[in-house]
Amino acid sequence: MSHLRDHNNVRSTEKQAEGWLKKTDVSGLSGKFKAWLYQHSLLPRLMWLMTVYEVPLTAVEGVELKINSHLRRWLGIPPGFTSVGLYIRSGQLQLPFSSLVEEFQVAKCRVAMTFRDSRDNKVGEAGIKTRSGRKWEASASLALAERNFKDIIGAPCTGRQGLGMIHFQEWGKANPVERRAMVQAVVRGLEEERSKAKVVGLGPQGAWTRWDLPKRKVTWADLWRLEPCQISFLLRAFYDTLPTPVNLHRWGMRDDPTCKLCRQKGTMAHILSGCKTTLAQGRYRWRHDKVLTTS
Ligand SMILES: [Zn+2]
Repeated sequence: MSHLRDHNNVRSTEKQAEGWLKKTDVSGLSGKFKAWLYQHSLLPRLMWLMTVYEVPLTAVEGVELKINSHLRRWLGIPPGFTSVGLYIRSGQLQLPFSSLVEEFQVAKCRVAMTFRDSRDNKVGEAGIKTRSGRKWEASASLALAERNFKDIIGAPCTGRQGLGMIHFQEWGKANPVERRAMVQAVVRGLEEERSKAKVVGLGPQGAWTRWDLPKRKVTWADLWRLEPCQISFLLRAFYDTLPTPVNLHRWGMRDDPTCKLCRQKGTMAHILSGCKTTLAQGRYRWRHDKVLTTS
């Protein structure tokens, strides 16, 4: 009976997410404002629903897939663009969006820790048990995070928020609130590692993992300032999904992958700044000066 109720709650949460995305989609607002609404309105609402009900991770991942396809469209990036690029925090290009799956896992761990602490103190046990007779799924990932914590102490900061500030703290001396923060940082770190592993296997879209570039954080202020086509260009240039001769060739939309001007391989680097013919004809200079005169 309670299983059926959970199932219905999960379905209704999924339906609400879909309905909200659809409504936002046809709202007539600009793409970046729709993306802003995801981060500041849908995400907090979904987080609340998903932690109140026992939503399995697979359902959360399903909802995130739908969110990804909407975010891509709202930001003007092609469907093949990796969703890792939307949320990664350790990449050179960081967008101001949070992943539903990551936030969900962090919240689950927080709930599991609170539950365990209250059980240890013999407080609040009954209240929590009647709401959900089943074991918290999060306890496994919580145990993993706590185990990992010992390995991460003293290691260079890899996680997102504050890991660098708390890594010197000792687990044994930390109070429950501090421990919760420590575990959450580790959960985020693990999620980030999974994303990075995924992106390395992506071929051209993962090429940036081999670049030695300063990190760039794209803030909301940047997004408001940029034209939609500039946002799209920035992301597509970074993940090498611009329609360069090489990419068009790979996508089967063009017979040869060479640059029309000099017959060299038309990679992104070549087209944007490496073409000798373009250089000789002063085209880059023209574009460069054009940028200066219009801004
Ligand atoms: Zn060329």
